[in-house]
Amino acid sequence: MDCQVSALLPLPALHASHAGTWLRDREVTRGCGKGDAVMAAADTPLLLLNAPLVATRLGYPDLSGLDLLELFAFVHPARFAVPTPKGLAHALGLDEPGADDAVPAFLQAAAGKLIATCESADWPEREGAWSTLQSLVRMRWPWAQVLVPHVRKPERAERWLFARLPEWEEAPERPAPGHVLIEEEEVEGRLARLTGEGAEHRAGQRRYAREAGAVFAPRPKRGVPHVLLAQAGTGIGKTLGYLAPAHLWSEKSGGTVWVSTYTKNLQRQLRRESGRAWPQSRADGTRPVVVRKGRENYLCLLNLEDALQGGFGGRAAILAQLVARWAAFSQDGDMIGGDLPGWLGTLFRKRGIAALTDQRGECVYAGCPHYRKCFIEHAARASAQADLVIANHALVMVNAARGRDHAQRPTRIVFDEGHHVFEAADSTFAAALTGAEAIELRRWIVGPEKQSRGRRRGLAARLADVASYDDAGGAAIEAALDAAQALPSEGWLQRLVEGVPAGPVEALLGAVRATTYARDESGGQEAGYGIETEAAGLDGPVVELAAQAAGALAAIRSPLMKLGGRLEAVIADPPDWLDGQGRARIEGARHSLQWRCDLLAAWEALLDRLGGPGDPEFVDWLAVERSDTREFDVGLHRHWLDPMKPFAQVVLEPAHGVMLTSATLKDGPDWDAAVARSGARHLDAQPRLSEAESPFDYASNAEVLIVTDIQRGDVPGLAGAYGRIIEACGGGVLGLFTAIRRLRAVHGRIADRLARSGLPLYSQHVDPIDTGTLVDIFRDDPAASLLGTDALRDGVDVPGRSLRCVVMEQVPWPRPTILHRARRAAGGGSAYDDRIIRARLAQAFGRLIRSKDDRGHFVVLSPAFPSRLLPAFPAGTPVIRCTLDEALQRLASGVSGAQESAEAAADGMT
Ligand code: SF4
Repeated sequence: MDCQVSALLPLPALHASHAGTWLRDREVTRGCGKGDAVMAAADTPLLLLNAPLVATRLGYPDLSGLDLLELFAFVHPARFAVPTPKGLAHALGLDEPGADDAVPAFLQAAAGKLIATCESADWPEREGAWSTLQSLVRMRWPWAQVLVPHVRKPERAERWLFARLPEWEEAPERPAPGHVLIEEEEVEGRLARLTGEGAEHRAGQRRYAREAGAVFAPRPKRGVPHVLLAQAGTGIGKTLGYLAPAHLWSEKSGGTVWVSTYTKNLQRQLRRESGRAWPQSRADGTRPVVVRKGRENYLCLLNLEDALQGGFGGRAAILAQLVARWAAFSQDGDMIGGDLPGWLGTLFRKRGIAALTDQRGECVYAGCPHYRKCFIEHAARASAQADLVIANHALVMVNAARGRDHAQRPTRIVFDEGHHVFEAADSTFAAALTGAEAIELRRWIVGPEKQSRGRRRGLAARLADVASYDDAGGAAIEAALDAAQALPSEGWLQRLVEGVPAGPVEALLGAVRATTYARDESGGQEAGYGIETEAAGLDGPVVELAAQAAGALAAIRSPLMKLGGRLEAVIADPPDWLDGQGRARIEGARHSLQWRCDLLAAWEALLDRLGGPGDPEFVDWLAVERSDTREFDVGLHRHWLDPMKPFAQVVLEPAHGVMLTSATLKDGPDWDAAVARSGARHLDAQPRLSEAESPFDYASNAEVLIVTDIQRGDVPGLAGAYGRIIEACGGGVLGLFTAIRRLRAVHGRIADRLARSGLPLYSQHVDPIDTGTLVDIFRDDPAASLLGTDALRDGVDVPGRSLRCVVMEQVPWPRPTILHRARRAAGGGSAYDDRIIRARLAQAFGRLIRSKDDRGHFVVLSPAFPSRLLPAFPAGTPVIRCTLDEALQRLASGVSGAQESAEAAADGMT
């Protein structure tokens, strides 16, 4: 502890939790009131950890100070740290503070350690620090003056970030994979090699791997791939189960296997586990395993350059400097779920991170000065050469639907977390003509609005050379620019509210908004949430406005299509000045044009239907999106009734083999819904079905408690129950809610009390912390509990003591949206709802037991929990209906393992 004390940074420090507030000054730490803390922070910059969180705790949003997390991001960019005192202590190799009142002194020690690192000769992230610090001094970053005496000027001038990043190399196209068969014995042999000598020989995993192997055979018939649906109980080792045949096949055929996941957690796990099969890099330096995400995840260097050169102001400019520090050390430039700390964006402002990615498809490809260093291009090229690409469902589908390179389309795909394929397809293949979407299209065509800053350029600027070389192309650009004036522009929502829309699309959106409000029957109950109404029975004037808007959209699409044709002609018969880079840029522009034309065509189709009979393949509706009583978007929506139809056509049909696997693919003993939700039926493909039961002893290690004396709608009762459950368990509780309103109400009532007992409570939608970081905090502290909504039901992998109880506030009924009503009617009415609820319960239960030694309780607070939902739980799991008091006793004594259930899940149907 001595070295820590000697390294204390003698600045005053502040810590605030739900349990209280502590201030340290002149070597004395004292508890103080919130008002005192705010006054002290206004007087002098205080050391803090996570300023937005401290600000929330103090109820003073303008709080600022010397945030240790910002300092950490400067000193150790691209390094992981859980943003709590304990997490920071681990990251820095310091002792954890024992209690809240020890935190201010710890903050001084942590600051001292970070500053000492800047002085040390072996600071691994020194390169570039001095130059960045000079910029940060100019920006008056609070830490800058503190750091200046400690970061020495390098002897040689530091290279600027864009000169330091590596360039990608052009590589020959990988030949098409050979048509090989892999034998079952080979698969078993490979599996044994990957699991290692001495690993348990799990019969379920071996069978699973053999069955997965069949997916890699060449397809027997064009347009009909092998489809395997594989239910894999938690703990059978499914990842290595499919990686074994994938590795074998890629080795024998020279082909690429794509594994697609839904959550970032699983991506991380796959990256780790693939290391058993593939080396980090090949002899030629290329990588056999590549993680590939949608382009909106990666840092766009051109956006960063723009931000560094004045495109960002105030705090956002400081964020850009810290992101530039990170970019130099990042493994792959992935800003969302990669090695950029998830908390960094929330320390600044939300849009800051998004504005540094390529969200709007504005990339100018070879026209970009950083094209050869671009992280997105690096990832795309690396994946073309990889044996294994780890992607996500949305990317696989978007790539298949509008990928640039057909030759690179995957032929062997494993969809892990396969129960999410349906919803990923649902959003990928949907269309939304909303104000926010339409204004994006306008900006893409016309360019920036007068008052906006930044590098954004319109079509004319991006294709100036084509316009001057090719008259017809130039005329098409002009015509598109003219026609795009019909799209909404800056201030559109305000104009809608005031009833003065400008142009045909705004006029239509105004009518959509008025109709939606006119039909709203929620009586303000759900104020703060979106409202919607069917796109049926619309008034004549609304239909007329829709026809005018459709005409305006067609008038934009027509010149864009012409322009696409001209670009094709320029590529086919290239002028002398068109070099390789210019060609790539025009190819890129042609691709982006096609995508916009498809978008416009989808919008027109949606509008064309408004006056007439609905198309039974689609569900259309009008909606006003709101958040916390603030409207943020208005528009029309179209979803496929069965999104697996386009999925089958776009993803399944071109492939040779596709596997969907998950622990919760089927519904109890029933495969029907899983088969329907695979898309196989649209192709006449007969999916193979496989099932491997979990080896976990649920009967001994888990208990389902259905608490029957908390009435629905009794928020004080609900909050009291949560508080007492968390106390009985001593933390380690994951609380799942179906409504944000109730979550906030419960959190507000119990967080302070629990914190005073040493049981910190974190919450989505309350704490200004991103979801991934919340889960990291929860995992890191066995006394902590976490409340959240849907995203936590399925994306949390917290084995061990940190998660020992899952509580659901009620039966997770689906929200009765228009889309849900339509699918319910088509899918068997209440049986459809039951399937959804069982799937949700099964996913939530799946958070509880992650390893064979895990033990825990699953609690549902529901006076009327129908027995027909019980097959959601693994066979043999004891299910006990009881009062809250009885449940608390069971929770306090831990899982007994006694088989005394009133109903056993396996045969619990009554
Ligand atoms: S190539 Fe595109 S995405 Fe990459 S840095 Fe340049 S503009 Fe950004």
